[in-house]
Amino acid sequence: MPIPESAIKKYSPVNILPGIGAKKASLFEKLGLKTVQDLLYFFPRDYEDWSERHAIRDANIGQWLTLEAIVVNTPTIQRKGRLTIIRARLEQDGSSISATWFNQPWIQKQIKLGKKYVFHGQVDRRGRFFSLQNPYYIEAEKINFFFRPIYPLTQGLTQRDFRQAIQFALRQLKIGEMEPLPPSLRREYKLCTLEYALQNIHYPTSRHDIKVARTRLGFDELFLLQMALRLVKQKHQEQSLTPLLKINSTGERKLQHWVASLPFDLTGDQQKAIADIRSDLLRGKFMNRLIQGDVGSGKTVVAAYGMALATWAGYQSVFMAPTSILAEQHYSTLRDLYKNTNIRLALLTGDIRNNARSEILSNLLAGQIDILIGTHAVLEKTVKYKNLGLCITDEQHRFGVDQRAALGEFSGNDLYPHLLVMSATPIPRTLALIIYGDLDITLIKEKPPGRIPVATYTAREKDRGRVERLMWQRIEKGQQIYVVCPLIEDSSGQELESATGVFNYLSQQAFPENKIALLHGKLTSKVKSKILNDFNDRNINILVTTTVIEVGIDNPNATMMVIENAERFGLAQLHQLRGRIGRGIEESLCVLMSETSEPKARRRLTVLCQSNDGFALAEEDLKLRGPGDFFGVKQHGLPEFKIVNLYEDQDLITQTSKAAETLLNLDPNLERLENRKLLPYIKRRLTYELEPVL
Ligand code: ADP
Ligand code: MG
Repeated sequence: MPIPESAIKKYSPVNILPGIGAKKASLFEKLGLKTVQDLLYFFPRDYEDWSERHAIRDANIGQWLTLEAIVVNTPTIQRKGRLTIIRARLEQDGSSISATWFNQPWIQKQIKLGKKYVFHGQVDRRGRFFSLQNPYYIEAEKINFFFRPIYPLTQGLTQRDFRQAIQFALRQLKIGEMEPLPPSLRREYKLCTLEYALQNIHYPTSRHDIKVARTRLGFDELFLLQMALRLVKQKHQEQSLTPLLKINSTGERKLQHWVASLPFDLTGDQQKAIADIRSDLLRGKFMNRLIQGDVGSGKTVVAAYGMALATWAGYQSVFMAPTSILAEQHYSTLRDLYKNTNIRLALLTGDIRNNARSEILSNLLAGQIDILIGTHAVLEKTVKYKNLGLCITDEQHRFGVDQRAALGEFSGNDLYPHLLVMSATPIPRTLALIIYGDLDITLIKEKPPGRIPVATYTAREKDRGRVERLMWQRIEKGQQIYVVCPLIEDSSGQELESATGVFNYLSQQAFPENKIALLHGKLTSKVKSKILNDFNDRNINILVTTTVIEVGIDNPNATMMVIENAERFGLAQLHQLRGRIGRGIEESLCVLMSETSEPKARRRLTVLCQSNDGFALAEEDLKLRGPGDFFGVKQHGLPEFKIVNLYEDQDLITQTSKAAETLLNLDPNLERLENRKLLPYIKRRLTYELEPVL
């Protein structure tokens, strides 16, 4: 039954297409393909190239041929046990070749003597003769494509199902009406129309067309996402429900006095970061800012400045850390930094319960606490503030819209607090544009003065004696050492890479006279913090640990780190781990133990020996791993990219970022006629937490 043309819309369910019933529709749905539009955006993974015609006499074993030829005998059928074989002779300009199909008996009836077909298949030899094996074929006069798409398949669906449905959709849908990009933008970036792109991504006429189509669709992927992120940012900033921080001259004097009393001078980048925060907080618009600075760049004091400002402007702050160890560490650091002030701090983690907890909660509500430091526990519903103005997270995900709404609910003043996110994960600049496109970004690149880069070396098992002598020398000087292992428990044959095994070896055999401690994630946080306090008080010479020390631990007297089975860690992670040392005035030493000869792993270790710059390492990491598993991308909740390769398409990222900025500057609410089609596409592109804002 013919379907009236107008019946197919982009949001029509796939079962409106011929050949798709309820069963197939449910298989399509498993691939996330619910509408006709979804199908059009399901791109081929490859193509059969039917664009050229070959000659039989050029046939070679293994070659893919596209032959226009006439069938010159009635195809024969032969049965050998469970095998059926169909054979036909094909002729072209006086040369001939045979075609063979296995277990497709119906072909015998389909192929007609004397008819001309185009065959597409691979050449094999049968005895002395060449033969096309299981070739595809189409009647020569019916052929209507040059390349045929090959789709990633799922159980129960065939290439034919996809091709038929998509071809029909391409023919029947008015794709021209779907075009989201304004013509001026298409001209400026030399992009083909959406119609052309969708036609050619499925049925290109040449390899060049595939490229043209991919460029356009890749542009859309990045451009629409960046538009979405910018719109979210814009919406946030328009929110008037955010506290206006005002600071009077007394408060200003206190701040200046506090900065002057710090045990060090702020670096230029720290001052810049503070200036950014000040201007955000004091201008009365919502702050949603990321401070990105390598490990040890001194982000804590910048956060402390923001919270002091909030306090003296009459608001409470909350400071969140990912683990209770880190929260405790921040608590003690901040107590120190604020020691000459009247700022009142409290610590709230999951370990603080019963009376202690109730007391903190009631003080918080009464406004007798200025800054609450803690883990995720501070986001619980029962934690209510008197007057919350600023929320800071360290090493955290960005805030979701929901979290922000929740914070607004418990802020005590019906206002959404300002948000500051601190991250030590260095991300290449272009990627930051899309990963953090909804945040303002401040970079702290400069390290505090006097930092000596950590000397980093690789070593093998045979060098262990030498490594231990180096450890001895550090201990003799009263310095401390981390030994980091990838596994917690011993599993057979992996003695040395388990922290417990290493701990036993070091404490019983290598360093029996010294104080060795073992720290890992399975200990209770009470035990963990006891060990860390002992380590900070220099009562422990060697701390054997897993990656629990990865973030935030700060003991400048620890000057050496040995990383066991270093090949097991990613580059970014190794760099983070290494950031635990090199915090004092002594030159620190990092030894990467590894027996691996796997080239990529070796390359990672070498790169780490050569550089202490987190941003340079991040670029290298992206190169080595490829964007698929680039750290952070998935965890940041980005939607998937079908066309774009985040590493190779960095130029496109920059280009689309500029395009989005320009367009939104001219038409911030997308009210102009030519821009109105964009919004539904932008929404479609944002499939995660930011969505409710649009
Ligand atoms: P991170 O950015 O990794 O959070 P921290 O804030 O923990 O870094 O700072 C690392 C160390 O550097 C701390 O011991 C801190 O006291 C010190 N520090 C921070 N800023 C400066 C500075 N401007 N001059 C000297 N030392 C500083
Ligand atoms: Mg830190």
